[in-house]
This record gives sequence, C-alpha cells and structure tokens, in this order.
Amino acid sequence: MPHVTDFAATRALFDLPQGLAYLDGNSLGPLAHAVPDRVARALREEWGRMLVGAWNDAGWMALPDRLGDRIAPLIGASAGSVTTGDTLSIKVFQALAAALSLNPDRRVILSDSGNFPSDLYMAQGLARSLDRGHRLVTPPPEEVADHLGEEVAVLMLTEVDYRTGRRHDMADLIARARALGIVTIWDVAHSAGALPVDAGGTGVDFVVGCTYKFLNSGPGGPAFIHVRRGLAERIEPALAGWLGHAAPFAFEPGYRAAEAVRRLRVGTPPILQMAALDAAMDVWDIASIHDVRARSLVLSRRLIDGAAAACPDLVLASPRADECRGGQVSFRHPEGYAVMQALIARGVVGDFRAPDILRFGITPLYIGEAEIDRCVAILAEVLDRRLWDTPACHARAAVT
Ligand SMILES: *Cc1c(COP(=O)(O)O)cnc(C)c1O
Repeated sequence: MPHVTDFAATRALFDLPQGLAYLDGNSLGPLAHAVPDRVARALREEWGRMLVGAWNDAGWMALPDRLGDRIAPLIGASAGSVTTGDTLSIKVFQALAAALSLNPDRRVILSDSGNFPSDLYMAQGLARSLDRGHRLVTPPPEEVADHLGEEVAVLMLTEVDYRTGRRHDMADLIARARALGIVTIWDVAHSAGALPVDAGGTGVDFVVGCTYKFLNSGPGGPAFIHVRRGLAERIEPALAGWLGHAAPFAFEPGYRAAEAVRRLRVGTPPILQMAALDAAMDVWDIASIHDVRARSLVLSRRLIDGAAAACPDLVLASPRADECRGGQVSFRHPEGYAVMQALIARGVVGDFRAPDILRFGITPLYIGEAEIDRCVAILAEVLDRRLWDTPACHARAAVT
C-alpha cells in the first residue's frame, strides 16, 4: 500500500450525487463506480450465460473466502482466517455461541450499555435458548474493565459506540480479558474501513463486522468473521450449515466441520451482494487504512471546532481526544431529529439516533474539507434561524 493516499483519486472512484455532502457512510457507504459493472457481469455473464456452472467456473463457491482474504489486511488478520456471509447479527450469534462453549464453566457475558442493540439481543436470545443460567452484564462503556473477572465467560464489545463514536481501548481490554481466561469478541462494524484494527497483534479470539458501512458494499452486503489461528479447530459451530461442512457435496447425514474459519460459513452465499463488495474493495488497492484514519481525524477536528464556534446550541457527544473517538462525530440537540431533517433537505446528509443524537460519518475516501465546512455552515443556519421547526422536519420516517 502507498504511504500517501491520493484522496482525490479515491473520491473519483465513487458515484455521489453532485452537490451533496454525504456524511452518513458510517450507516450506508456510497456506490463505487466499479460496482454496477461488476454486478452486471455477475448477472449477465455469470448467472445469465454460465447458469449453475458459475458456482465452479465463475468462482462463486470460493467467493466468501476470497473476499475474507481481501478484508483480512484491514483488520490485521492473516489470509485464510476470515470468511464472509450472512448478516452481522448472525456472525455475532455464531461467535458468541462458540465463545460460550469454549468457556463452559462460566456464566457471564460482559458487554456494555452502548453496544448496538442487535448484539445484545443476540446474547439475550442465545442465553435464553441455552437455558444454562447465562447472564448478560452491560455496564456503562467506561466501566467495562471493572467488571472483568473469573466469572466472565466472554467479553463482547463493539469498539466504536454507534451513537457517540466513543472508542474502547481494545488492545488493553483484550489483554486484561485474556489474562483472566475470558474469550474475546471484537465487533468492528464501525471500525473496519474507518481505522486500523489489529486482530493478530491483540490476540483477540473473534472479530466480526459488516461491510455496508465503511466498506461500501451496499444495502444488505455480507458480514464477515475472523477466528484466531488455532482456535477455529476447537469450535463446533452452533449454526452447522451445509456450506460449513468439510465436504458439502458429499451430502452426508451428519455434520463434520470444515477446516479453520470455513466452518463458520452457513448457507448459500449472496453472490450478487458479494460481487458488489468485491468491486467496492478495489479502493483499498490505492488507499491505506492508516492514511484514512489520519485524515478522518483531521476532518473530525475541523467539524468539532467549526461546530463549537458556529453552533452554540449543539453539545458534543463524542470524545474530544482523537484516540478515544472512531470515524464519526456526534452532537446532542433536544430537537435532533428535526434538525437532521432540515440538514438533509439542504444537501447535508447525516443521521439521527434516538433520543437526541445527530451523527456524522467522517469518511475521507470521498469527503474532504469542503463537505465539512458546508456541514458547519448549514448547521449554523438551521439552528440560528430555527429552520428545523416545521411540520415536515418533525414528521418521523421509519428509518432515522
Ligand atoms: C450495524 C451494526 C449491526 C447490524 O447488524 P446486521 O445484522 O448487519 O443488520 C450489528 N451490530 C453492530 C455493532 C452494528 O454497528
């Protein structure tokens, strides 16, 4: 990877509407120009011409693992230790089920109150179905370390808080957890593609994440899962699907796990979504994740400082210190929903998370100083002139 990423070149790879400041790539990354052609090829040349033969001839069956190998460098994992498929919720469930079975005498699942609800729901549902007295403990994020102990089976954390952008010190927490015999799960939904992740260096047991946020695979893009080398062989998958079988086309009546992380594949891969991800990953051929992180921090500070000067009604919800913040900046405002609708109507797209958070994704692959400055100027105008106080801005849509 180059030392100095050319961000004009990365921006040119994306198909963004003219004049739009798109600050929501932490929710849904934009379309890369390469994606429609790649998906059209999968449709017309592969599905259309090769039909069922494409599973072999177009490499469809190997695609989940090949994409895992493309994601691996972004999360500090080695080739062959990442696979893709399903959604993140499913990958969380798989990792958690495996983790609990690796620590059968312990009953506590430790996470935090800022984790994304689906991760917590998966833990609650799994605990209920196991019916062996597992307890989910969710202290405030800053108190997680105080709850580490020998009763904890699994530490399951999302590095970057989806609301506030607060970032855990994962290396420190994983080291402490490992010293206590706790199995570790690191959710990188808001890290992968936003900042460097060092799976190998921390010795974390599982890494899970999604690709439609900072990796731009499009709506419903596949999730991924990494398992530490040597650990996968000890896992009997809870979701024992045929494509995680050692010999799927032997159609044996009994399950035998495939080697390594491949055993965490479940069913038929979503090839069209994977084709989109494959094309979207091309940007990483010319972008370094270290450069992306450095520039994201520069742009984040510009937004924080600009809003502090021009928008006195906004309260910064994200940590001020760079190393404590992920690839987003959040503010609180009691009318946050309406304020965001007024911004979107003026071509600045962020999003809203209940109860009062305005979120802005800071994604240097395709945004720069101009978008940040426009965001600050329009925010200031919307707040100063109460442009959010209209029936249209108050009307709630299903997706916020
Ligand atoms: C976005 C996100 C999810 C979403 O899960 P899906 O199953 O892909 O819908 C789950 N967990 C975290 C931490 C997220 O940020």
